[in-house]
Parts: sequence; structure tokens; C-alpha cells
Amino acid sequence: MLSHMRNGNIGIRNAVISNAKFATLKPAKFGISNDISKNMLAAFVERHGEKFQVKEIPTPEPGKGQVLVKIHASGVCHTDVHAVDGDWPVKSRLPLIPGHEGAGVVVKLGEGVEHVAVGDRVGIAWLHSACGHCEHCTSGWETLCLKQQNSGYSVQGCYSEYAIGQGSHVVKIPDQVSFEQAAPLLCAGVTSYKGLKETEVKPGETCVIIGAAGGLGHLAIQYAKAMGMIVGAVDVGKEKLEACKRFGADFVVDATSKSIANEVIEQTNGGAHGVLCLATNASAFESAIGMSRRRGTVVSVGLPPGAFPTPIFQLVLNRITLRGSIVGTRLDLQESLDFAARGLIKVSVQPDNIDNINEIFDKLRGSKVEGRIVLDMCNEGHPNCATNHAYAARGRRR
Ligand code: ZN
Ligand code: ZN
Repeated sequence: MLSHMRNGNIGIRNAVISNAKFATLKPAKFGISNDISKNMLAAFVERHGEKFQVKEIPTPEPGKGQVLVKIHASGVCHTDVHAVDGDWPVKSRLPLIPGHEGAGVVVKLGEGVEHVAVGDRVGIAWLHSACGHCEHCTSGWETLCLKQQNSGYSVQGCYSEYAIGQGSHVVKIPDQVSFEQAAPLLCAGVTSYKGLKETEVKPGETCVIIGAAGGLGHLAIQYAKAMGMIVGAVDVGKEKLEACKRFGADFVVDATSKSIANEVIEQTNGGAHGVLCLATNASAFESAIGMSRRRGTVVSVGLPPGAFPTPIFQLVLNRITLRGSIVGTRLDLQESLDFAARGLIKVSVQPDNIDNINEIFDKLRGSKVEGRIVLDMCNEGHPNCATNHAYAARGRRR
């Protein structure tokens, strides 16, 4: 049905796509916009809590300071579920195209964009833009800017064939990193990496990661190892703990054991220098303080609803720092991608298709997703893309 709906554009595009040279050329040599179609496929909701519609809508035009990005891979993050359900205090815009892990190629520049060129491989992340001149922006904390826009939340995101990025805030993807590997790093990767930086754990010191086997956790283990930390992984069950070891954890602790904190204190001879809490249940946060070393830092990245009791005595007498961390700046993003370019980070990717978006969200709501689901938006057989080109395999447009 969808391919039928596309027929208006398919003729012209196929003429370009079927060119044998296409796959081997660098995108920069394509020129600007002859192959940008008027309409694009997008997954969107019109009201909070509704099912997705996957339909053709007009391809947006980049305005002043913006770029148009042909999306090749689009990561699916649990935040997108909240964006669609509208269950966070600040509601997302409607209608909404979610997605803040968009990796692709710049195909058109808006007025005044100079440092990004057509053909650049870029990512569109959660921090769509920030004001650039407030106290947070000027102190290197643009992620706290009160005037920030967020991709797939306050502005349209990347569950679509094309997406608008802010020229100043798209991040360049190193050539060594495929779009499918890059996409999850744009949120899950940078969030784990920044959270680890915020623990202030130094090389040779210990960092314990709670919820270490999940989408963020498996990346956090790899970043922590690459940063020279000794890594302890906390998660539930033998299978997940085995996975944590495969990702590089030095020791593992089962979260169902009676005293997780005591086990960590024993393993680390006095507690962890840093604790990164990625868990989605509030009770894990209490144990995070218990397993912290004196002068340790507990960083929360997980966002479960509710509150957790904070043992004040422990906090004060042990001089423990308790801290939240949200995504990362453009520099954090560039650093987190550079780790991947050096071959130090491998994302566990599950390629999927935009047509399955409602089933994917059902799985996310039921916590049945392992690794990171990435929508393969590529229809070009592009060598830098996924090993699994879902579109091409389905013969949808070729
Ligand atoms: Zn600002
Ligand atoms: Zn591609």
C-alpha cells in the first residue's frame, strides 16, 4: 500500500538510484537537491496515546540556519514512548514525528549555514538547538538552556525520510562509523558517556553501573572501560550478567541478591568511586548510595517516576555527591562518536522498519527490547549504511 502511495515520486528517484555509480560515489559529489522528493514517508501521531500513522507528508524546507538531512538510520529511544503517550509534565508538540537519534546526509542548506556542507554525514540529537547566549549556554551547559528545542518533542524528529536539523547543532559523524552504529550513540551513547564523566571516576578507579545490560548500560560498560575505569555491572539474572561480562565488565552483581551494596563494598574494598544509575525503578537509587565509597559520586540518568528515600546520615558522613545527568553537549557528542570511530564502542543494534513502528512501541512498553532498535531508512544500498537494508530487501522502491 505504501509503495503504491509513493508512485508519484518513484519514477524520477529510481532513475537516480538505479545508477550503478550511485553506491560508490561519495554523497558530497551528488550536488544539491535534484533527488529530494517532494513528499516523504513519516511515522507520526496526531494525538497523545494514539497509534502511529505511517504516511506520506510534504518534505520540509530548511529555514534560516537549518539543514535538511536525508535520514539513513533512526534510533528508537524509550523517551519516544513518553513523547507519544504525553505522560511527562511538559507535553510534546502535536502532531508529532518522534525521534532524536537521526543519522544521515545533509542534502540542502538553509540560508546562512556555512560550516556544514551538502554531503556531510551528520546526526540530529535530542538537543535540537539552544539559545547560545544564556548563562547555561555560555558556561558549557547548553543541555540546561531554558530555550532549548528538543528533536522529536518540541520540534519534529527523525522517524522520517528527511528531517530538519539546526545547522549549529547537527554533529558530524566520523567516516569510520556507520549510520546504524551512529544513530544510537546520538542519545544512548552520549547519555552514558556524559553520565560517566559526571561520576568523576578517574582511570584505575571503580565505577559501578546499575542496569548495565540495557540499551544504555551496554554502551556505558564499553565507554567506562575505554576511559580506563574498573567496571562493576549490576543487573538481574545470569543471562544479563553474562552479557555484561561480554561487553567488558570486570565484575558483576545480581540485582536480586539481598545486599547489592554490601557485595559491591566487598568487591571494591570499600565501595565504588562512582555509581551510574541507569535503572528504571526507584529502589535501585537507594542501593546506589549504599554502595558508594566515601567521597564517591552517584549519578542518575534513569528517569523512573516518583522519589526515593535518601539516607541523610550516610550522605553527610561519607561526603557523597548525588547528581543528575541529562544527555550531553555537542562536544560530548563528538567525543562519544570519536570513541566509536577508534573501534572502542560497538552498539548492539536491532535493525527494523518504520512500517513496524506500532509493534516496536508495544515491545518497548513491555520492556521486551534487547539492544537498540534502529529504523533502517536507507533505500540506496549505501556502503556506509547497515548490513541489513530492510527497504532494499523488501524491494519496496527498487
Ligand atoms: Zn541558552
Ligand atoms: Zn544508506
